[in-house]
Amino acid sequence: MAVFGIFGLKTENVASSTYYGLYALQHRGQASSGIVVNDDGVFHAYKDSGIVNEVFTHRILDELGLGQMAVGNVRYGTSDTKDRIHAEPMVVDHVKGRLAISHDGKLVNYAELREELELQGSIFHTANDVEVISNVITRERLTASSIEEAISRSMNKLVGGYSMLVMSPQKLIAARDQNGLHPLCYGVRDDGEYVVSSESCALNVVGANFVRDIEPGEIVVFSKEGVKSIKDHCNEKPERLCVFEYIYTSRPDSVISNCSVHLARKRAGAFLAKAHPVEADVVIGAPDSGIDAAIGYAEATGIPYGLGLIKNKYIGRTFIDPGQNVREDKVKIKLNPVAETIKDKRVILVDDSIVRGTTCARVVKLLRDAGAKEIHVRSSAPAFLNPCYYGTDVASKKDLVACHHTTEEMAKLFGADSVGFLPIEDVFKLGAPGTCKGYCAACFDGNYPTEPPKKTRFSRFDYKISENKNNER
Ligand code: AMP
Repeated sequence: MAVFGIFGLKTENVASSTYYGLYALQHRGQASSGIVVNDDGVFHAYKDSGIVNEVFTHRILDELGLGQMAVGNVRYGTSDTKDRIHAEPMVVDHVKGRLAISHDGKLVNYAELREELELQGSIFHTANDVEVISNVITRERLTASSIEEAISRSMNKLVGGYSMLVMSPQKLIAARDQNGLHPLCYGVRDDGEYVVSSESCALNVVGANFVRDIEPGEIVVFSKEGVKSIKDHCNEKPERLCVFEYIYTSRPDSVISNCSVHLARKRAGAFLAKAHPVEADVVIGAPDSGIDAAIGYAEATGIPYGLGLIKNKYIGRTFIDPGQNVREDKVKIKLNPVAETIKDKRVILVDDSIVRGTTCARVVKLLRDAGAKEIHVRSSAPAFLNPCYYGTDVASKKDLVACHHTTEEMAKLFGADSVGFLPIEDVFKLGAPGTCKGYCAACFDGNYPTEPPKKTRFSRFDYKISENKNNER
């Protein structure tokens, strides 16, 4: 999931800039896209299921019109929140005004908060965290002197990983959870407009220069008075940036906590080479997120990097599943081996992660069919052993292949000659030294920065709402 927002004093085509910002963040979520434009306190919103360029046509962007501020969101759908009703940003009217809220992440105390709110009379339309967050904020706003004070008070109650943007009629407010689990940064354009984004790659796209990361626990308020930082919640908890941002989630051209994601991935490749060396003729990367680590592995060993697999560029992370009755293999539709790189070669295949093991087994078969003599699988992430509660879509323990198999068994299962994972101690060295104070690697080592959820959301809060193509806002 990703958030993007713009704050300016002049009336501009903020919808179009938000569209391009979200376009650059598409890799963080493909289930739904949404934009809310604020024109002198009047909100114009559009959101729907689908990727950015499917949801927004020229006509819709024109209808959103001009404004001084906007917020946007792309989100991926977990099993309980795929319907379009869960699309963000969420617009809420409350006794003191109107808000649009966009977030990235997941609360671990969602069920408790929702139950508490329901007992006080709140009603809910979705199973989306953002609805609980907006209820908590608007209740605090009843007695708080400002919206930023209401957000600050709410942060005492919200537990989990979240980066959020709240737009009021006058202000754009960015907030990051106290552990700083998900990234959030802001930049400024030459014309003085501020741009807030989950990742820095989207700042470049709209011509903004990176200013800085928003700190864990920090609230940054953009208003006509300028930029105000509220640090009441900073240093309340240890910094724990999700290390999977470096491994998989973020785009390699983003910089998080002063560290280029591309360089972090190359470092992972180099550590992997040191931990699991093997004689081979070529190193290839599984497109796209395994490529940077493959280059790092090749540079560290001197084994040449080769272009071994081509990904169909037009497919995206989701595509129409051919279904069980159709014979085409999903991986074959997405990936094609370059036989010249692979045939009769001892190949090192670097992928960013092995979750269920399904992708790996299919890619290994593709390479075998293309004539590879040996295939050595290397994962630039450590073995996945635990679920994630903070917004990364990791399978449950029963489906995690590394929970039930040794590396030798996995090699057999995938049809590979060997399998090697990044050692857990190296995962904490992927970032730039001395910048980020700590990481969350709970999906690998089980060391969670918060209590795990006490109640599951998949029971009473489960939603099955059929698609309704009439956009509601
Ligand atoms: P699997 O087939 O379940 O082992 O999935 C591994 C592949 O999924 C890797 O090639 C990753 O690039 C990709 N992947 C890893 N984590 C995620 C995630 N949270 N969401 C979607 N894809 C992922």
